[in-house]
Amino acid sequence: MPKVIENGHLYYPRISEFFIDHALEYIPTKKYYGVFSRELIKKDQTVLKVSGQCYSDISDSPLLMKYSVILAPDFYLGPMDANNIEADWYLNHSCNPNLRRVGVLIYVAARDISPKEELTIDYSPLNATPEDGFAEMTCLCNDPGCRKIISSKDWTKPDLAKKLWIEWSPFIQKTILKMGLLK
Ligand SMILES: [Zn+2]
Repeated sequence: MPKVIENGHLYYPRISEFFIDHALEYIPTKKYYGVFSRELIKKDQTVLKVSGQCYSDISDSPLLMKYSVILAPDFYLGPMDANNIEADWYLNHSCNPNLRRVGVLIYVAARDISPKEELTIDYSPLNATPEDGFAEMTCLCNDPGCRKIISSKDWTKPDLAKKLWIEWSPFIQKTILKMGLLK
């Protein structure tokens, strides 16, 4: 049965393809939800296959604009139903995340992850775009290497272009190479 959380949204654990046992929990100190491991996850283990539906235009849906990723120009992946979102859309950002994205749709463990540890990802590759539209958020992850601002133009920064290389969507990788940002 789906569980009702946050503004009447429903959480459907059956749709997301998590390969590990996980929990979606409210974090009172931070006043938001997060996804937590319930078992030891070894480095490089596949943790999650992102689920959802493809959209060509999300501009008329504030919920899809919040919960979607850009796979290619005018090609987005979002929840099947923005009012019934899957657990993977509740993964929070960290500037030192314990998951990394490979092949755009798969997340693997970047290191060993303990039970009860929050699973985190880097948001920069999710909304990366060469278009003029610009999205950014303030990061409060508190990691010593926190970037403070996470933006859809982070791929233009040579250090991040290199560090997150495997995580950028192919069209962003192509643009990074064309602009010579890896040199
Ligand atoms: Zn941060």
